[in-house]
Amino acid sequence: MRALDLPDENRPTADPYGYLRSLPNVSTSLDIARHRPALAFLNSITPTNATCEDIHPLFQQAQWVNLSCENYLRLLPALKVATQLTRQASSLSFHNHVLHGELKYLKEKRTYYLAPSAYEATKTAHLMTTETLNTTLPRYLRLQFDELDEDGFQFDAMTYFGTGASVSEIIYCPRIQLHTHHLYALRHVVDHGSRYDQEAIFLRIAIALCHELAHAVWHHRSSIENPPS
Ligand SMILES: [Zn+2]
Repeated sequence: MRALDLPDENRPTADPYGYLRSLPNVSTSLDIARHRPALAFLNSITPTNATCEDIHPLFQQAQWVNLSCENYLRLLPALKVATQLTRQASSLSFHNHVLHGELKYLKEKRTYYLAPSAYEATKTAHLMTTETLNTTLPRYLRLQFDELDEDGFQFDAMTYFGTGASVSEIIYCPRIQLHTHHLYALRHVVDHGSRYDQEAIFLRIAIALCHELAHAVWHHRSSIENPPS
């Protein structure tokens, strides 16, 4: 995902929140919640009712690299939204398909796609998907905030796949990076923003995390099929 293109003078510098003034009205993101009843639960998630225990193992504090306790607490409502999105039946069946769909080649478009497989409808496949999301992936996946400005591009978030060595094997260690502008925005709206501003940034961070998670899940599958050497 690309971040908004901001003129240089509005990029975070001495006044880290200055660029927020140039953002379009963030409350417009709330139209999503208003118009889609399935997302209406987001309205009940506020900083006051998010607790550490409710966070999905993928997003818990131990997963974050170099994140202060203070910033983790600010992030909690966004992580709670990401948790609820990840636990939706539709997300689970999406990840189940990513992990167990059948890879087929589409000649006309010269590209691969994932066709539904008989296996993905089974109970075993669903159990494996839950196990992957709740246990296996949290062991390797790490999350961090980073400056993601490269060659004139600003990416909102990305995932990279380094390798690490465990006791007996070389393993992939995916890392989800979120642009630090999310952290600036979060600090600003938690201290100065309206509830609508806060919900918009929480939703934006949650969506970025869930988007990147899909890359990590797909990569998890390909790393099993083609282990690093
Ligand atoms: Zn992507």
